[in-house]
Amino acid sequence: MRFSMTAYPWDFDGEEASSRLDRLQGDVGLNGVSLWAAAAPSLQFRMEDGEWSMHRSDGGLFFQPSSYHYEGTRCRPLSSGFRSSKAAFMDICQACVERVMLPRAIVSACGTGGGPRRYPEFACRNVFGLESRNTVCLANPDVAGWLAGEVSDLTWNHPLAGVMLTDYEIGWREAWHERLPAPWALSQGQRKLLSTCFCNACRKGASADGVDVEDAKSQLCAAIGFQVSNHLSTRVDEAQSGDVSSALFAYRQWQSQRLNALLGRIRDASRAEIWLVRKPSVDTDDNVRASDVSPIAGLVTDVPVTGAWSNALDRRIRNHELWIGPDWAARDESDLVQMLAEASSVGIHGVEFDHLGLYSESGLSSLRRAARFARRNIAVS
Ligand SMILES: [Zn+2]
Repeated sequence: MRFSMTAYPWDFDGEEASSRLDRLQGDVGLNGVSLWAAAAPSLQFRMEDGEWSMHRSDGGLFFQPSSYHYEGTRCRPLSSGFRSSKAAFMDICQACVERVMLPRAIVSACGTGGGPRRYPEFACRNVFGLESRNTVCLANPDVAGWLAGEVSDLTWNHPLAGVMLTDYEIGWREAWHERLPAPWALSQGQRKLLSTCFCNACRKGASADGVDVEDAKSQLCAAIGFQVSNHLSTRVDEAQSGDVSSALFAYRQWQSQRLNALLGRIRDASRAEIWLVRKPSVDTDDNVRASDVSPIAGLVTDVPVTGAWSNALDRRIRNHELWIGPDWAARDESDLVQMLAEASSVGIHGVEFDHLGLYSESGLSSLRRAARFARRNIAVS
């Protein structure tokens, strides 16, 4: 069983990566590390020298890109402001390899920090034409080339056992904001429709493939309640229920196909296995069918509460791992052991604890007991 923890490069700042890894491997019993390589902006609490602190990161790339991999795209790699001699991405990867702690890189596909602001022309746009501040559109050929280049750059230039791809979605993510101002309360279904991207690349591409984009927009507006057009050819309830004959369905399906094609391209560009990270906060289920792009190595599913994760297993996928948030470390450690046993019994092959900076020494010690249990009782796949 993979027993791994995610980390940002700065989680190794302040001491040599090698000594911290020695402790994680020897004292805690981890056999893997998953290191953020391309991240979205974030606000995070962090445990430093026994004290909590809070940090803001603009995200971006945490490794040194090589331009060769980005020649076919107008998007340039987006370096982060973060640099540290002690915590260089390559150094941490190599230190992991020396200890046989299989290193993976984590990549935010559409949300890497700085992308949408630096390249508004590549950002997702909603039905009103407003560009996203959070997401670039993966249906845009330049964005697709940039992401495939990034994975190629990472896996050919660093000793990685895998890449965990997160945020693989096409959409105007602001639609999910809790405090989105709207003239009425939007249902989850309406938010999902509002997140549909209508950027230039999507509109042109879908139109070239025979989708009636104007009809799709009208159906979407009607389904949400924005009756802005009298050009409706479909009843609202049909658009909402995903009637396969509707233009809106065809439009969203076209985006799903672009996304699956991109995942296949990324898989082909990568020298290491590709794992998809599925988070319940973002509804990608009907967007991506990972089995369509087999052999994607597997799915890592974020399951914050016990019992719910067995429902989250996708039976079409062979390998499953769990992404376990820090709330687990705060619980009774027997809960964690119990959860690992259940996870193993339904076919979970590994766990990723999120993330190193959030663990105090006492939090790590509860993982130590869980790791010992996992080694003794859970079959290694
Ligand atoms: Zn788009």
